Amino acid sequence: MVRALLYILTSIFAITFIRMVIGVLTRGVGDLINAEMKNTSQTSQRSSGMPTQGELKPCAKCGTYILASTRFRGTSKGEPVYFCSDSCQQAFPA
Ligand SMILES: [Zn+2]
Repeated sequence: MVRALLYILTSIFAITFIRMVIGVLTRGVGDLINAEMKNTSQTSQRSSGMPTQGELKPCAKCGTYILASTRFRGTSKGEPVYFCSDSCQQAFPA
């Protein structure tokens, strides 16, 4: 009876120890993978550079193409017009 109890205690201890070791190992590997993924996502973000979303519109003054999301916007004869810069917007006859 005592032997059986000892055996159970020993196996519980062994299992706990093994699980702890595996946990440390997997956590270490997981950290490595996470660091690797962070690095790759950062590089892909960096390489993508300028935002590609949004329509390109010519500047109503000088014709330079800018994103339609530009903050230099106005309306001329009911039509939306876009400007590449503040100076173009100022120079454009309203
Ligand atoms: Zn312009």
